[in-house]
Amino acid sequence: MYLRMAKRLAWETDKRLLWKAVYQAGWKGLRSVQKHKKRLKKGEFFPPFLYISIINSCNLRCQGCWVDVSAKQTKIDIAALNRTVNEAKAMGNAFFGILGGEPFLHKELLDFLEGQPDAYFQVFTNGHFITDEVAKRLRKMGNVTPLISVEGSEIVSDERRGRADVLNQTMQGIQNCLNNKVLTGVCTSICRTNIDDLLHQRWVDALIEMGVMYCWFHVYRPMGPEPMPELALNPEQLRRVRQFVVDTRATKPIVVIDAYHDGAGQALCPAATGFTHHVGPAGDIEPCPIIQLATESIYDERPLKETFNNSEFLRDFRELAAEHTRGCVVLERPDLLVELAKKHNARDTTQRKTSIAELEATVPRRSQYVPGGEIPERSWAVRFAKWIAFNDFGTYTQHFKAENWVDPENVATQPPAGKLQLPVVTKDR
Ligand code: SF4
Repeated sequence: MYLRMAKRLAWETDKRLLWKAVYQAGWKGLRSVQKHKKRLKKGEFFPPFLYISIINSCNLRCQGCWVDVSAKQTKIDIAALNRTVNEAKAMGNAFFGILGGEPFLHKELLDFLEGQPDAYFQVFTNGHFITDEVAKRLRKMGNVTPLISVEGSEIVSDERRGRADVLNQTMQGIQNCLNNKVLTGVCTSICRTNIDDLLHQRWVDALIEMGVMYCWFHVYRPMGPEPMPELALNPEQLRRVRQFVVDTRATKPIVVIDAYHDGAGQALCPAATGFTHHVGPAGDIEPCPIIQLATESIYDERPLKETFNNSEFLRDFRELAAEHTRGCVVLERPDLLVELAKKHNARDTTQRKTSIAELEATVPRRSQYVPGGEIPERSWAVRFAKWIAFNDFGTYTQHFKAENWVDPENVATQPPAGKLQLPVVTKDR
């Protein structure tokens, strides 16, 4: 498998782009993690990876989307983007995730990416605006990898994304990237309507055949104003996704991303561990994209270094989340986030101003944390990489208390919409 992957990298990529990815995302990304570890030892904090949602607008209307895609357009202008990235680079960061809405609707996106040749960007996109011309420009700059979302077959895609002919346009965007040898990834938010089609070796083989270099299988999280919990996976399906990721990594010549487990298969939350935090389209600094609460902004007077280091809201978030679960606190304990928001008087960063009500209405459910059901990595290379650069950095040893964990599967009474009510546990923990 390693030999087949090496062959693919050797024959199917533009060597300049490959070098940029290895050096800027790989080597410099690793260095930023080492700096992060050193900071933690000194009691300082700055996340080594920042995700920035640069615009709220989108041409699609996906089921369960938490972004205000049809509200008044809000975006981070190029000056603020550069300032944020430059301040993060000064802390040793090199890799940035760019999200939306649909990032390619931001008219200054390409100029911004072009103006940061020593950083590396992963752009989360539906691919509809990646024409041949855009792909050529991406190839020329070399510091960008588009991560293009495919949500299912033609029919499922249209249903999941609220428009007609979505899949064709997405596949055209992928093809334009591949024709220009841009390092391209494909991601899917796995839910009940696409799990059988896309969580399948046939689909992975098709991606390899096309020339896609990496894939990412997110798990659908019912959040936002129309959460659609009926699409969320049950515990057995969650286990299936994890097993599939581990097996695919060990057997197929394609990189499979996973941000929720260490090498031993133990669950983690990258926001609770401080590996990432998120900047929303209005500049608000949030724990992660689906937690739309903040007390700080990139537009605050003080430097970003001080903002992250001194944010009591973010520190409390990390500790509170890590004290109660190794999984996703939003899915398992939305009540804790409501308490946190009240304690810090955090502002609702949505335009619809319903973040708290949405959390209060969220029915707790299992996430990546499955005590006793850990599935360790099979691939020694992935184990080694995670041991070095992707683990909890001591967060859970320091904070997690198993007796605090409430299994959402055992919660009998669910909170009614709009009212905070702590979960009731019916079985022994
Ligand atoms: S809180 Fe949940 S959605 Fe946010 S980073 Fe952690 S696991 Fe992911």
